[in-house]
Amino acid sequence: MKEDFSLKNYNSFGIDVMAQAFVSIDSLEKLENLIQLKSFSFPHFILGGGSNILFTKNVTSTVFHIKLKGIKILSENNEEIIVQFGAGEIWHECVLWAVENNYFGIENLALIPGTIGAAPMQNIGAYGVEIKSLIEKVHCIHKITGEKITFSNAECEFDYRESIFKHKRKDAFIIYAVDLKLKKNAPLQTSYGAIKEVLNSKGIDQPSLKDIFNTIVEIRNSKLPKPKEIGNAGSFFKNPIVSNEKFESLKIQFDDMPYYKQNQGVKIPAAWLIEKLGFKGYRKNDFGVHTKQALVLVNYGKASGREIFDLSTEIIDKVKNVFGIDLQREVNIY
Ligand code: FAD
Ligand code: NAP
Repeated sequence: MKEDFSLKNYNSFGIDVMAQAFVSIDSLEKLENLIQLKSFSFPHFILGGGSNILFTKNVTSTVFHIKLKGIKILSENNEEIIVQFGAGEIWHECVLWAVENNYFGIENLALIPGTIGAAPMQNIGAYGVEIKSLIEKVHCIHKITGEKITFSNAECEFDYRESIFKHKRKDAFIIYAVDLKLKKNAPLQTSYGAIKEVLNSKGIDQPSLKDIFNTIVEIRNSKLPKPKEIGNAGSFFKNPIVSNEKFESLKIQFDDMPYYKQNQGVKIPAAWLIEKLGFKGYRKNDFGVHTKQALVLVNYGKASGREIFDLSTEIIDKVKNVFGIDLQREVNIY
């Protein structure tokens, strides 16, 4: 256990807050011992890669850093393979492992920071793929009773950037392993965003698994700030899904508004709403909105979590006033 420990290098916003104590958990046995010692009966915070959290104050309790490792093949046949990943495995390294072994399914999720244990929390998604389409099981341990519970895919209640772990059963469990079902061959998802454009520019019309992986990495590197250079937690807000009626009235007012029809309504890119209000590239002191992606709030160095949180509130209020849309924060706030 480390005491009075700075979390600056443990959150992708690079916010300099202190934890009263910091404990790494690198095995299931250690986790079970901590539960027996009633460690989670007191206030605490569970930390993975720290890439989806904004610390607005010091953590006046213990931070438990999930570092359980391991990649294990559970079963396979000619078509598919089921693989178990320890919760502390770095997500991008899991994607790399799958691509190198020619397993299909998670290539569009390349370069998402963080750990695989946190991936089911908000059903990570990018470029037309969500982890819910690959998850077989999520293995959890109850923080108080120590009971091990395995959630099937349906039991995780996945939705757009949502799961049972993010709200309904928030804080009840620690995820210690995740099983993914990967394919030995499958159609590649190239229809989203700039994927096709980049492939075309390279003259690739029959992309391989590796081509898709490389393309996603290239697009993301060109658009998103690298947390080591500019602190951020990716998209700060979810893309709102509005009713068809609301969409029709907005479209009359803002005929340049991009949109994507969904089953439940119409998705409006939050980045467009924020850019329209003039926030793209906004900077005050060391906090602001990224110059290339208005959905990403940034810390240029010494911003406080509170300053970034207040900016997010200002954006939420303005979006509500001008568009009548309630923006929801995607990032967890402490
Ligand atoms: P943390 O930030 O450490 O934790 C997030 C939450 O999960 C916290 O509430 C924490 O208490 C809880 N938690 C963490 N681990 C566990 C565990 N083992 N058991 C129980 N609770 C746990 N997200 C996307 O969906 N798509 C993207 O394309 C994407 N791109 C991003 C790009 C950048 C540059 C950045 C910085 C972030 C991006 N994100 C994206 C957000 C983030 O990477 C993901 O949400 C990621 O899954 C967070 O993982 P983490 O380990 O860092 O979680
Ligand atoms: P983009 O390609 O500029 O598109 C803007 C938004 O429009 C995206 O957020 C996406 O919503 C939506 N969109 C684009 N094409 C779509 C389609 N064919 N059908 C439905 N919706 C569509 O987005 P970007 O900012 O560069 O990000 C690219 C991808 O990476 C997106 O999937 C995004 O979610 C993901 N990403 C996520 C984070 C994060 O922290 N959560 C950070 C960076 C990137 P969706 O977001 O719903 O896909």
